[in-house]
Amino acid sequence: MSKEENLECSFCGRKKVETDLLIAGIDAHICDKCIEQAHGIVEEEVSDSKSNELSKDLILKKPLEIKEFLDQYIIGQDETKRAMAVAVYNHYKRLLQEESEDDVEIEKSNIVLVGETGTGKTLVAKTIARMLNIPFAIVDATVLTQAGYVGEDVESILSKLLQAADYDVEKAQRGIIFIDEIDKIARKGDNPSITRDVSGEGVQQALLKLLEGTVVNVAPKGGRKHPEQKFIEVNTKEILFIAGGAFSGIERLISKRLNMQAVGFSASLDDDKVDEENLLQYIIPSDLKAFGLIPEIIGRLPVLSYMNPLDAKTLRSILTEPKNAIIKQYAKLFLMDDVDFVIEDEALNYIVEKAIEYKLGARGLRSLCEAIFTDAMFDLPSSDEKEFNVTKDYAVAKLTNTTLKKLRTAS
Ligand code: ADP
Repeated sequence: MSKEENLECSFCGRKKVETDLLIAGIDAHICDKCIEQAHGIVEEEVSDSKSNELSKDLILKKPLEIKEFLDQYIIGQDETKRAMAVAVYNHYKRLLQEESEDDVEIEKSNIVLVGETGTGKTLVAKTIARMLNIPFAIVDATVLTQAGYVGEDVESILSKLLQAADYDVEKAQRGIIFIDEIDKIARKGDNPSITRDVSGEGVQQALLKLLEGTVVNVAPKGGRKHPEQKFIEVNTKEILFIAGGAFSGIERLISKRLNMQAVGFSASLDDDKVDEENLLQYIIPSDLKAFGLIPEIIGRLPVLSYMNPLDAKTLRSILTEPKNAIIKQYAKLFLMDDVDFVIEDEALNYIVEKAIEYKLGARGLRSLCEAIFTDAMFDLPSSDEKEFNVTKDYAVAKLTNTTLKKLRTAS
């Protein structure tokens, strides 16, 4: 027998003549059959570890637990928290479901949140993403242009999400994208034939593609496209979209609809008194249509919820109650210099009062605190003071009219 014929597969021991192919390594040989088998093992392992990875990274809680988690960070907004908890729970059930035999396909539960700016829309979305331990990106609907789904704009949205996922495509494809200012791409007016705002509609079509699920080529570093650069394909089919907008003026449309219902004898609001102060709570999808969103978009955002305006009581709670409340953050900062930080109720109420008076909203609370505490944060670390007691008088003294005016123009 020639030396060549003596060769055998180092894995299964088959002689060269018994194989179709025998590949030589440094000290060993492998036959075609063993290669095939090994390949099968590799495939299985990789897909196993991928699905394990998903369930390992994803911390899925029941709706009640999701709501309780949100309660730690967000004051009030109970309706939205409940709606979000259910939507997110269903969304991830959909992702984790086994390939099923039946034809029941659970559809995505993208969400649209309507409410004034600063009422916590972004905060809710961000907190959900944090709880689930999945990548999260915030984008502005106004960056979308008509050419959207083929152009750079949609790509930039996904490249943000990819970045948040450390360029792990699998992870990114199961992330959450918060689309802010969705109301800004609404068509002006309900009747397309009279006041047709073509650009608004074109942008909505671009967004629709994203919501429905499309494959977008994203340049790895999110920078400018370069001919040699290899693109990363990102499929948006499983991404959860949460859209938010102030929809300013939509109350008028709601009120008009409610009045029309009230005169029609079949559909009056049961004698329930309409809460004129907060009409957003009566919002239904057709109001979004009247505002100028195309029905297809509304259909792809099946969960609709609203945010309550922040009253004094809520603002007061936002200052001190959430897990990472602003006041708790300052107390921690001062404690690092061994300074005990105490703020009197009167001072807190004064901050809230000014936030309302100057229409600064929840975002303004932080700037007001900065204006009041900056001097102390500068001086105390170099002094022997071990206590910082903030009275109303102290807050009033620090918040001069000029500071307040500056804050108002900055917001
Ligand atoms: P929006 O997206 O509605 O414009 P944000 O979520 O950006 O508002 O809210 C701005 C900031 O106001 C948040 O970062 C948070 O500090 C605070 N805030 C707003 N609403 C709430 C709330 N309900 N509970 C706790 N903090 C809130």
